[in-house]
Amino acid sequence: MIPIAKPLIDQREIQAVLNIMEEGNLAQGEQVFEFEKQFASHFQYSYAASLCNGTVALHVALKAAGVRSGDVVLTTPFSFIATSNAILYCNAIPSFVDIDEDTFNMSLESLQEAIKKNPNAKYLLLVHLYGQPCQMTDIMHICNEHGITVIEDCAQAHGATYDTKPVGSFGLCGTFSFYPTKNMTTGEGGMITSSNENFIRYCKKLINHGSTTRYVHEITGFNYRLTNIAAVIGLAQLQKIDGMNSLRKKNAHYYLENIHNSAVSLPKVDPRADHVYHQFSLKTKYRDEFVKYLTSKKIGFGIHYPIPIHHQGNIKEYLQSMGIKSQSCPVAEAVSQQVVSIPVHPALSNEDVSYICDTINQFNP
Ligand SMILES: *Cc1c(COP(=O)(O)O)cnc(C)c1O
Repeated sequence: MIPIAKPLIDQREIQAVLNIMEEGNLAQGEQVFEFEKQFASHFQYSYAASLCNGTVALHVALKAAGVRSGDVVLTTPFSFIATSNAILYCNAIPSFVDIDEDTFNMSLESLQEAIKKNPNAKYLLLVHLYGQPCQMTDIMHICNEHGITVIEDCAQAHGATYDTKPVGSFGLCGTFSFYPTKNMTTGEGGMITSSNENFIRYCKKLINHGSTTRYVHEITGFNYRLTNIAAVIGLAQLQKIDGMNSLRKKNAHYYLENIHNSAVSLPKVDPRADHVYHQFSLKTKYRDEFVKYLTSKKIGFGIHYPIPIHHQGNIKEYLQSMGIKSQSCPVAEAVSQQVVSIPVHPALSNEDVSYICDTINQFNP
């Protein structure tokens, strides 16, 4: 079976973990701070704060951005559940903005409509889905005009740029995940990036029980710290991330040029975006047949995501309990019935990629 995801781990990560185990400083320490510094400088962010996963990175980012109980946060219905759950953790109200059917990212028209309908919305939490940046130049223009603070969920987009500027540097901050399926990993881990030093300082306080001096607590924080064990894996992965992203792009470009089958449609890339292909997702009206076919040919796949967030049970119940009517996002609803991700990760061989391509070209529903 060709897996849908596989992290690239070699002697560099293995030796780094052995070293830290022998040294004995396992929790947050020097290596964590070095990882923050190198992550920021590698991707050209001014400041970075690390955390134990990407979900809590979203929680801390929203809290530090000032999201409070009852605030409306505009967001996408087409993402991993963590994006919206972080809004719920702040007792705020997610308001869903429909997506573009070709890029799967938030639609500019729908964003403008949503702002008209929610004139008191103060926040936008967007996602660079599958590694493709949203239309950040236009989005920032619209949000600046309306005094809306932008938070970028970059969990799938390490190294992606829009108009040559890195994702996570347009809005107030960016958040990242280092789960093993992502473009780079630390096992579990996360990061917040920003050009605002005070903001990152406040995030670091929230991550460490509201404390900057040991046993002195100024605010109620959390234990969301990253470990040195995770950080040394991250430091090794940082040396490889550009190469790993290049391999993802190479695989994706091969698919874009060589998959020809009228039963599947290929994703569209915004020419102003440097897409890093966390996923390569096709659309097909024959998804049940297609995934059965892939399985019979020993090709792994993923469905990202089968249920749009506004239809998830926990979100529906939460909004209902606040007396908020259910919303519809027809594009996200339709797309969630058609998407299928095929392997695009850097551990694929050239033979794997051409086999996947030939196999898809022979699909006949
Ligand atoms: C993976 C992911 C997260 C959550 O990150 P974890 O590290 O798994 O907690 C959040 N948002 C998106 C879009 C993701 O893909």
